[in-house]
Amino acid sequence: MDRLAAIATEGEPAARLHDAIAALERGDAARSLHRHSATGMPTREPLIRQIQGDGGGVLGIIRFLDFDRLCVFDPSLGDQLLIAVAARLKAMLPAERLLYHVDRAHIAIWFGPVESAVLASVELGAIEYALGEPMAIGSHTIALKISTRLSELDGKEPATALTRALAQLSMATATADVAADGPAWDTEERERFAFEQDLRLAMAGGELRLCYQPLIDAANGRVFGAEALMRWNSPARGAVSPALFIPVVEATGLADEVGLWALNTAIREASGWRAKGLGDLRVAVNVSGHQLKRDDLPTLIDRTLRRHARPPEFLEIELTESVAVVDCDRASRLLAKIRALGVSVAIDDFGTGFSSLSSLRKLTFDKIKIDREFVADVDRRKDSQAICQSIIALARGLGIRVLAEGVERREEYAWLRQHGCDRFQGFYFSPPLEASTFAAFVRDGEALAEKLAVGPRAMLRSLSKSLTL
Ligand code: C2E
Ligand code: CA
Ligand code: CA
Repeated sequence: MDRLAAIATEGEPAARLHDAIAALERGDAARSLHRHSATGMPTREPLIRQIQGDGGGVLGIIRFLDFDRLCVFDPSLGDQLLIAVAARLKAMLPAERLLYHVDRAHIAIWFGPVESAVLASVELGAIEYALGEPMAIGSHTIALKISTRLSELDGKEPATALTRALAQLSMATATADVAADGPAWDTEERERFAFEQDLRLAMAGGELRLCYQPLIDAANGRVFGAEALMRWNSPARGAVSPALFIPVVEATGLADEVGLWALNTAIREASGWRAKGLGDLRVAVNVSGHQLKRDDLPTLIDRTLRRHARPPEFLEIELTESVAVVDCDRASRLLAKIRALGVSVAIDDFGTGFSSLSSLRKLTFDKIKIDREFVADVDRRKDSQAICQSIIALARGLGIRVLAEGVERREEYAWLRQHGCDRFQGFYFSPPLEASTFAAFVRDGEALAEKLAVGPRAMLRSLSKSLTL
């Protein structure tokens, strides 16, 4: 960790960030950053790197179906259960099998290259059997409900492929009662078809909408815009997270339609803000990898702005770092055209792509959004501090604006502010809001001023407030 911190505070900003990220990639800092607190297993990022490194292979996923219910029943039970499951898996699987705790309710097994597909399905069957045996945990005996899935991943865009595999398992589970008995990947086409149908109906029936999360400029104490975030309230599936449905949209033929819908809706809804007296705010819209494949994206953006009579400075396009570096030459041409319109471009989830400083050099963009992973607990984690400091220094050196996303606590905000970051987004300031409540948030300057105040007095005020609640 000390080495990482040292690298990150010496030399040119760009070189520093590159070295800090390379050190992360080598795994020293990542080992503590990417381990699940209960099971000690590596988490999502190391899995993505493994898939990328192997160039594809077979992935097994185990989903704990009633995990949330168990945790409500007894919060400490969740961790104990995960520890017991991890021990059982480690005892029964060959030592070379790689286990990852992808998120709370999912464990993944990386079987490696596709030759092992048959072996993988045998092993996954055995795991399902073994985990079905009741477990004694404290004074409880628990019979776990799980579902499993095997997916073949080709190693391209592993993060998207992983999210898609998780989404497919979650959809298979939601439709388990109507699904056939065969292995999960036999039902893939049917699920995709059903999903596409649902989503088409959702678009037609107004089930998709956008929420707006305020973007804060601490230097002048005001909201300078909002990020449009998609929501799908499905009567059949409930509230589906965009993190789940966007990757599936990408895999179906709907990406263009949904992307255009979001662009058009965001610009239309946000063009009303000025008339409401909210000033010149800008709206940030997420653009997916699929949309970037279209040569006419700049024309579509231009046309949409004209249709709503908005100037180009009104819009910011957000593109994740991993998408931007996949086809860098293409991306750089397209981004240059978008910027030539006067629309600004932000690189989203910065720091998670690891690869990319040299490739990012080819791209021109206006803003970096530091990923939430490095913002969480930045006030007390040395490794995150080194990364954030490097990113802020890099951005300053290149004349690029920087925004920290996912700020949840005042201390995180205060640390970042003290270290030169002025733009923020996160639950600490506000969650994503309905279009109708966004205006009220912007108008409440006093509440924002209180959140923005740092220093001992402000800390004391907020502490005494929370004590009297
Ligand atoms: P993103 O672009 O990184 O968006 C930020 C995500 O972080 C949002 O999740 C937001 O609700 C969440 N967030 C904001 N502040 C905090 C915080 O303080 N703590 C925590 N824990 N989370 C915070 P959401 O809305 O679920 O969106 C997830 C992802 O789905 C987005 O990540 C984006 O990649 C994608 N997405 C959302 N809307 C669209 C869209 O219209 N088009 C495309 N292509 N992708 C979208
Ligand atoms: Ca975004
Ligand atoms: Ca982000």
